[in-house]
Amino acid sequence: MSVMGHPDSAGRFGEFGGRFVPEPLMPAVIELEKTFEEAWGDPEFRAEYRRILREYAGRPTPLYHATRLSELVGTDVWLKREDLAHTGSHKINNVVGQALLARRLGKTRLIAETGAGQHGVATATAAALFGLGCQVFMGEIDVERQALNVFRMQLLGAEVVPVSSGSRTLKDAVNEAMRTWVSCLETSHYCIGSVMGPHPYPYIVREFQRVVGEEASAQFADAAGKSPEWVVACVGGGSNAAGTFAGFADSSAKLIGVEPEGGAAIGKGVKGVVHGMISMFLQDEFGQVEEAQSISAGLDYPGVGPEHAYLAAIGRASYESVGDAEVLEAVRVLARSEGIIPALESAHALAWVIRERARFKEGESVLVTLSGRGDKDAETIAKASGAGL
Ligand SMILES: *Cc1c(COP(=O)(O)O)cnc(C)c1O
Repeated sequence: MSVMGHPDSAGRFGEFGGRFVPEPLMPAVIELEKTFEEAWGDPEFRAEYRRILREYAGRPTPLYHATRLSELVGTDVWLKREDLAHTGSHKINNVVGQALLARRLGKTRLIAETGAGQHGVATATAAALFGLGCQVFMGEIDVERQALNVFRMQLLGAEVVPVSSGSRTLKDAVNEAMRTWVSCLETSHYCIGSVMGPHPYPYIVREFQRVVGEEASAQFADAAGKSPEWVVACVGGGSNAAGTFAGFADSSAKLIGVEPEGGAAIGKGVKGVVHGMISMFLQDEFGQVEEAQSISAGLDYPGVGPEHAYLAAIGRASYESVGDAEVLEAVRVLARSEGIIPALESAHALAWVIRERARFKEGESVLVTLSGRGDKDAETIAKASGAGL
């Protein structure tokens, strides 16, 4: 059986995953599961999804042989360029798929949660593309921190709802989005932004991101005539990593997920049930979910998708962490060696490659998913470097 195949009938990946939702949500997640299974087996749905990714989102994204970076690192490095996809990251793959599902479900509105605002912007984009309404829940603190993304969402026609409960950040926005969804199930689809939440979401989002890994695998085989020995991606909730790993899970490549030191849910987390799933979460001694800390707002989810917890448990993938200083250095290295400014999230994967370069043997190749572009992070990078903007 394929390692990254179908979860079991309870939506479990080993001991992780599952479906822990309030009773009123149960019919909606079951309907979603059934509709996704039908849609994913329907050649017309797949053709439409692929057509939109090609004509609108700019797929396939290139696989780029980073020759100057390779020289610096002393190993053969290839970049899967999700930074070149529409809206600047892999997130478009998921929201296009879920907007198509919403349409198939007869829903007229998308609900989403967002932390840094990137998933909110992607959801607002897909909503505009499909003529759907859009409501995005965002912690009050994030609304203040991410004013530009709030404006982008509004420009795209979405309503941004500030969440004032709890720590007023991403985990509270997820809770509020789920609460609101219960009150508008008839009209609204909840568009989750990563491989998290109750079954079937982790499975659906991974399947919509699988295109990243499948393209990369075929492109690498074409260009290099082999499979890469190492496949590396950053992990927030884990969608770009899951999509990437799905293309290589059945190969012999070593799969490495890179978490931020202050948000290492697999490295430092504890098993728990949060946001509808069993997975690994940063928790305090009383089991309260803790705030993740990272220079990249897109990686500060305090948990991780259940399939990553499973891949770690069975030893198919390894999860390691890097610190903010290494990440900033990796941004600089890629910018100067290749003329590419990566997103701070993606720079985690690069920072790991740079730090661990002694582990790569002669003749081995490393494929890194560059999940997004760094334009959105210019101000953060400038501030962290003590420069003004
Ligand atoms: C949102 C985001 C991430 C983190 O999300 P995953 O679900 O872990 O992929 C990583 N990189 C970029 C550029 C993002 O926008």
